[in-house]
Parts: sequence; structure tokens; C-alpha cells
Amino acid sequence: MASPASSIIKKEAQNLPREEFCSNLLSQMTLKEKVGQMVQADLSWSENVKQLLREGRIGSLLTIQDVRSINEHQHIAVEESRLGIPILVGNDIIHGYRSIFPIPLALASSWDVDLVEAVAHASISEAIAAGTTWNFAPMVDITRDPRWGRIAESAGEDPLLNSKIGAAWVRGYQGYRSETGRQAAACVKHYAAYGAVESGKDYNTTDMSERRLREEYLPPYKAAIDAGVKTIMTSFNDLNGLPATINPLLLKQILRKEWGFEGVIISDYDSIGELIFHGVARDHKEAALRSILAGVDIDMMGNAYHYHLADLVRDGQVPEALLDEAVLRILRLKYDLDLFDHPYAEESRISSSLMRPETLNLAAEAAAKSIILLKNDPRLLPLHLEGKTIALIGPFADERQSLLGCWSFDGKAGDVETLHEAIERNLPPRASLRVCSGCSFDGDAADLASAVAVARQADVVLLAVGETDRMSGEAHSRAHLGLPGRQQELVDAVVATGKPVIAAVFTGRPLAILKLAQEVPSILLAWHGGTRAAQGLCDVLLGRVNPSAKLNVSFPRSEGQIPVYYAHKSTGRPAESSGVIQFNEADKSVYLDESNDPLFAFGFGLSYTNFTYSDLRVLTPVVEKDGFLRVSATLTNAGNFTGTEIVQLYVRDLVGTVTRPVKELKDFQKMTLAPGESCSVEFDLPAGELAFLNVDLNPVLEAGEFKVWIGPDSTRGLEGHFAVR
Ligand code: BGC
Repeated sequence: MASPASSIIKKEAQNLPREEFCSNLLSQMTLKEKVGQMVQADLSWSENVKQLLREGRIGSLLTIQDVRSINEHQHIAVEESRLGIPILVGNDIIHGYRSIFPIPLALASSWDVDLVEAVAHASISEAIAAGTTWNFAPMVDITRDPRWGRIAESAGEDPLLNSKIGAAWVRGYQGYRSETGRQAAACVKHYAAYGAVESGKDYNTTDMSERRLREEYLPPYKAAIDAGVKTIMTSFNDLNGLPATINPLLLKQILRKEWGFEGVIISDYDSIGELIFHGVARDHKEAALRSILAGVDIDMMGNAYHYHLADLVRDGQVPEALLDEAVLRILRLKYDLDLFDHPYAEESRISSSLMRPETLNLAAEAAAKSIILLKNDPRLLPLHLEGKTIALIGPFADERQSLLGCWSFDGKAGDVETLHEAIERNLPPRASLRVCSGCSFDGDAADLASAVAVARQADVVLLAVGETDRMSGEAHSRAHLGLPGRQQELVDAVVATGKPVIAAVFTGRPLAILKLAQEVPSILLAWHGGTRAAQGLCDVLLGRVNPSAKLNVSFPRSEGQIPVYYAHKSTGRPAESSGVIQFNEADKSVYLDESNDPLFAFGFGLSYTNFTYSDLRVLTPVVEKDGFLRVSATLTNAGNFTGTEIVQLYVRDLVGTVTRPVKELKDFQKMTLAPGESCSVEFDLPAGELAFLNVDLNPVLEAGEFKVWIGPDSTRGLEGHFAVR
């Protein structure tokens, strides 16, 4: 039954300015239709979704892959509902739709915002062709706890890096237009402090000071908003006694009032219903009441708004004006995405849009640019395999699925090339390959003897070990962060052969791999690299790509150190000598049985070449409060390969009215130099970037002394001083 109204809406959308069009439409809506816009369902919903769409009682659908099904449901909304309002289709395209790129944690370790933007473009181009109009990404949750499985989706532990990478995702997702003009909204998530859940258990409680929240955990959201993100998702966790989904400080005070965000706020998956589990609502009606009053526009997959919002308005508990504001925001979003005029995905385009050669090339490039060289001493890498035999040993040798990583939306194991296949394809003349898995990922299945025999026949061994894609991601936290199963035994046995050994570690999180790090001379952190992970790894192994990625998250030596991160505060009894008071060893802030240092520090990553830093110049020894800190250093490529270095700028405020971190990343630049080449790297940092929150949580830039470093990671660098006045 085609409604005459729907054609009027389409025509008006073309001709009317947004505000006029949306408020006109709102004025025609019944209470039930308004609630409908605020309900997001998926096709498994207990009710008859098609009938509800016809009645205008669902405004968006979640997680549909099949483009025909998307168009079929859109057709009902547009042609068979009274007002013909199109639906949004939301999916989780976290690191690729069908062509899968490295997990976000890996990609962010490239510190390459242009690469992230390009990957976002490529991902959303596939997703849009397949009917997605709303992408539930990026996740910008800072996390310092590798037990938490969702660390795989984050950009790591640092506010500045997360902010830059998060903004790049947003620009990439929202800046893309298909050949027919279709576009999608991004959704920054999970607001907020979800990455700080206690003990790294997913969905757990977060309790943190407002200072830490504002200074460390919120900046990436603000950066995403400044980049124009159209929507934001609340988080599952309880924050300081109130679930984030109904937290007025987060939603009302900071998001709407201080940041002026005008886009749509959506709950996480049934996080409104989960208010009952949190013990802050007796039933779904109370959960709906608290959420609408807190300012949540859309109930994702929850029954709360669907069943109770209209009654709450009729009972007089909720002013209808609150719904009007929410619905207007949703209509504006649909208008901005041009859905009133172009509601349908073009089914004919899908096959030519997925897995294009250029997208897969980008996937290989991204995989290579995300690989971190953690150790290369003696220098076994890059490999020169002519005339040699390489043994590929480990459970990743013939693995496909796990290379994709968690949240690989429509990624298919069958599209993934294995390491075995890729190395074989990339072997130089007169080289040969022997392969043995040696053990499985978990359980007792192992054939260490065969692995040792294969290693003995080889000139060099590549160990391919790590955790599977099922071990990270949502609801996949781990308490033990070593290599799962009998893989460490496999490493020990292969190393004992005395052959030169390189390890490629595949993972969705930092692992506690102290023993491996001690016994294996060359280590590549390959993460979960996506559909073309194996090609990316070959390019690095064979020296076609010189590794340039650096850690965006600290690797612990053991789980007992967690959280271990570089930007910690100084204790009253610091481990390092303060120069003021000397403590006895035993009185310092140290463990009896573990070092304070991480296994691999934030910012760390090697190259096949050797970069040296010299000639630090603090060009502004005195920085005016409205001025800039200008500082430079000379970077030299003192090795034999062209390489790219991520040059990092850190500062420390030596004395403040409140305590400050021992180091904070303030900027970075990527420089590519040929062998023997030098360049000057200059940073111009607005003095305002040195501000912090005073005791009353107001931003201040205090006069005083600072240290500054330019260097290759958070532990090394040329040190200088400046003062702010
Ligand atoms: C996750 C979100 C995701 C949503 C929809 C939730 O369980 O926390 O990140 O966007 O599901 O799939």
C-alpha cells in the first residue's frame, strides 16, 4: 500500500531547508511514530519487524548484512508506512566490511592518520555499497588494561594518539561519498570510560576521578566531535555509581552543554534494559524513564522505549517535548544523509564494490605498516632467502580466520591468504619452505618433535605464534596473557635447536611474553592484520617494507604489573632517585618480585635502519602563555635502509598545583629518510596544550619549569628545559 504522504516527503526533502522539512514532518507524527524513530531493532526481534516498520514503530535496524534484505525493509518503511520515513541501517564496520584491515589497535600503531583515513574510506565504501548508512565506529576508549578484550578495537593507552586516530576515522567514514552520492554517519563509542573497567572484565564497573576522566579518557571523544561525528554511543559500564547510559555529567553537562554536541545519542546494545541489572531501575519502564530523562535518543535493541515511552508521556512523567527534541535530531540525521531522497542501496553495485584489487593492496600496505619490529639482535631481518631453507613453525602457519581479528564484519576466512601460501608465493629463487604447526592454539595437541625436526633442516626458522581472533574483542577478556596452549613450549623447543629464530606474534592485545622476548633474537609484532596480513608480513620479512610502526600501548612483563603505562604519576617514593631525598631500595615504589618497567614501552619500535637524534634546540626557553613552545632536533638515518621514523615530543610539568604525569606525549611527526640523510624536525606546540585542570577542575596554564624530550619512544630522547611565564 503506497502512501501518498511518502511521495510528498520525498519531494519536500529536495526543496525544503532542513529545519523546515524536519519540523514539518515532526508536526505530522503521532506519539507512537515519534517513539518509533527512537527504537532500533534487529531482524531477530521477537515482534514482527516488518509489521512494526509498516506502523512506523522502528526507526533504524541493526546488523543486517544482506543488501536485498536492507532494501526490502527500507521499501516497507518508505512505501508502506504512513509517513514514509526511511530507516537507518547500523552496522559495526570496525576494521573493514568484507576486505578486512588490521584491527584498530594495530592500525593505530602505525601512528599514521592518513593511512587510517584511507582505510576508513575503503571500509565504508564497501559497507555503503552493501546498504549500511550508519557505522558504529570508531571506538576511542583509552585502555591501559590488556586483559580487556576490547583493547583490540582501541587506539591504545594515550589520549593524544587516540584523539588523532579517532578524528581520522571520523573524517574517513563521514567524508566518503559513493559514485551515486551515498554516505554514512559514524558513531563514536563507548561514552565513556568503558576502557577502564575494573580488572579488565568486560561490562564491569569503572570508578575514576573526574580529573582523570576529563584529562585522559574524554579527549578522544571531544576530538571525534570536533571532527564532526554525527552520533555517539553510550557505554555499558557504571561510572562512579551511575551507569554511563544515564549519567548526567557525561550526557548533559559535558556532551551537550560544554561540547555543544547536537547529534544523536544512542544507547549501547540493550544498555537501557541493563539498568535493571545495574540495580538502578526496577523494570523496563523505569529504565526507559531514566534514559529519556538523561537524554538518550535511541534505544538500541531494547524493549524499554518501544513498550514504555508512549505510556510515560501519557502518564505525564515525560514531557513530549523531550521526545520531539530527540526525534528532530534523528530526522536531521536522516535528512543529512539524504535518505529521504535516496533511501535505497544499489544492489547492482555490490559485487563490483567488494574486495577490489586496490582495496586489497591497501589492506596489505596497512598490514605491513602496522607491524612492529620489537627485537632484531643479532640482525636476522630482513631475510635473504636465496638458496636457503626457511621453516615456518607454529599454529599460525596455516591459519586463516584468526588473521582477520575480532569484529571482522563480513570478512571471510576463505578470502584470507595463509602465511604458508604467502611465503611460498614470495619465495626467491632457489629457496625452499618447510612447514609444521607444532601445536594447536590451545589444549594439549602438540607435535614438538616434528617441529624440532623441521627446524633442524632449515637455515632459519619463522615461528608464527599468538592468540586467536576469538580471544579478544567484546566479552573476551583474559586473566593470563601468555601464549595460549603449549606455544611457549614450542618456542623453547625450537630455540633449543640453536637455529636462528624469528618470531611473528599475532594478537589482539599486548601479551605477557617475557620468556619469548628473552630467548628469540628477532620479533615482529604482527597483531591480527586482516585479509592481507600474510602479504604484509612477507613484505616486512623480505625487506620490501621497512617496519616503522611503534607501540601505542605498553607490553607488560607480567600480568601483575597491570595497569602499566608510560604517563603515570610520580609516587612520593619514586623508583628512580629523586635527587632530593634518597630512599633505601626497599622503601621505593617497586615490586619485590618484578621490575617496574614494561617489557616493551609505549612509543617503542625498531627499524631495519638506525635513526640517531642530535642537537636538541629549545627555541623558546621561555614560553608565553599565549605563545608556542618551539623545539627542534636533528634526525639522521645512520643505517643502510630508507626508513620512516615516528619522532615523538614529550613534556613534563615539574611543579604544579596538582600532580602531573612523569611524561606526556604532546605531538609526533613521521619522517622518511634515505641512508645517510638528516633532517631537522621542528615542533610548534601552542602553549595552551600544556594546560591542565587545577584543583577546581578548571583549565589552567601555570607558570613554571618544564622538561621536554624529542626522541624515538617514551623512555629515550634528547632532554631540554623551558619555562612558562
Ligand atoms: C557493542 C557495540 C556495538 C553494538 C552493536 C554492542 O554489544 O558494545 O560496540 O556497536 O553491540 O553491534
